[in-house]
Order: sequence, then C-alpha cells, then structure tokens
Amino acid sequence: MNILNLLIKGGIYILSCVLITVIVFLYGITIGSFLNVCIYRIPKKESVVVVRSHCMKCGYQLKWYDLIPLFSYLFLRGRCRKCGEKISIQYPIIEAFNGVMYVLIFMFTGLSINTLLYCLLSSALTVIAVIDFRTYEIPFGINIFIGCLGVIRVATDLSHWTDYLIGFFSVSVPLYLLYIVTKGRGIGGGDVKLMAVSGFLIGWKCNILAFVLGCILGSVIHMIRMRVSKAEHVLAMGPYLSAGIMIAALWGEALIDWYLRIFLNL
Ligand SMILES: [Zn+2]
Repeated sequence: MNILNLLIKGGIYILSCVLITVIVFLYGITIGSFLNVCIYRIPKKESVVVVRSHCMKCGYQLKWYDLIPLFSYLFLRGRCRKCGEKISIQYPIIEAFNGVMYVLIFMFTGLSINTLLYCLLSSALTVIAVIDFRTYEIPFGINIFIGCLGVIRVATDLSHWTDYLIGFFSVSVPLYLLYIVTKGRGIGGGDVKLMAVSGFLIGWKCNILAFVLGCILGSVIHMIRMRVSKAEHVLAMGPYLSAGIMIAALWGEALIDWYLRIFLNL
C-alpha cells in the first residue's frame, strides 16, 4: 500500500514537472516568434506591433494559423502557404532557441522574480546578438529595455543596490574612454551602453566576468570564423557580449567562487 502511494505521488510529481516544462517551452516559443518580428523590423525602423506579418514575396497576410510558433513552420515545411516561397530557417531557430533558454533558466532559477528577469534578459540579448551580427548596430531601445529590467532588479534587492550601481559604471566607463580614444573604432557605442545596463542588472562582479567571457568568446570564435570562411575583419561584439552576460547572469556567482578558490586560494 505504501509503495503504491509512493508510486502515485512520484508519478504526479513527474507529470507536473513535465507539464510545467511544456508550458514554459510553449511560452518561450511564443515570445520567440515576437523576437523574430523585432529582429526584422527594428533595423528597418518599422513598428513591431502595428503592421501585420506578411510574406516577403507575394505579400500574403499571414492568418493566425500561419503564426503558431514552430508548428506552422514545420506544418508548411518552411514555405509560404500561397506562393511557396521559402521562409527563412531563422524563424523556427529563434523560436526554438528562446523556448529552450526559458526552460533552462526555469530549471536553474526555479520560480522567482529572477526567472522572469533572466527570461526577458535572454530574449533581449538574442535580439541584440542577431541584429548586431547583421548590421553592426545595437538598438538603443533594447538597451533601455535591459536598463528597465535592472531597475526592477534593484527595487526587489534593495540591500545590494550599491553592487548594481557600481555595475553600471565598472565596465562601461573604461570602455567609454576606449571609445573616445579610438574614436569608436575600438568599441561601438552600443556595446558601451549594453555593458552599462547589464551591470545594473547583474551587479559589478558578474558584469566584469561577463565582459571577460565575451572577449574570450569573441576572439576565439572570430579567429576560427576568419580561418574557415575568410570572414570580414569587422567584429561585432554584441553576440559575444550577450553570451557572456547570459552565462554570468546564470552561473556568475558560482564561477567567481570557483575561480577565487582554485587560483587565489581564498
Ligand atoms: Zn508568399
């Protein structure tokens, strides 16, 4: 009897875990579909809410059943319902990526205000990474959005407000000096602002780690890209800084502790 009870309880627990994961994933791919709209329209200065989505070739206005994240793409096998024009694989990739990120963040942070902040941060960074990779520009509005997340963070963690305030300046001020000295060739203005608002959200320690990680990732991956595809020498830092910020937000404290213990014996 006891074993049966245990089995039922275990079953209910596993089932509810699966259910929550599925809900978080569906929520993630839905937001992911909005990110696609942002990624395509922000660089063109188009509204992200007013104009309805349409096929780039024939102008067919997408119906609600064409806009179901991930599933519509799979169902239509990546083609426009009307003219058969290929739909960019980027749409389902961004949707799936955002869904997976939300599930990962949920697994690591549980159900808290941080979960919400980090999910929104992850989405904002995804938009920044793709737009910067393509256009070498980081949209000002997305930086402002991350700054707003920082304000919520400080308001919900008031006892550590100095960490966040120092975070705003710790990386951005040296970068800004570099920006002035190199007249914008050493680093982009958008990168400077990104490191300011991210510091305000994740605190100065994690932000320094984020910048170091971003630089390491950037130099390694860029070198490989240049070797393999003879890519241009212009380096968009946005995608690498974004990756660094996300890693630092989720595992920064643990990484810093580990580093201090191993290398500095603290
Ligand atoms: Zn079409």
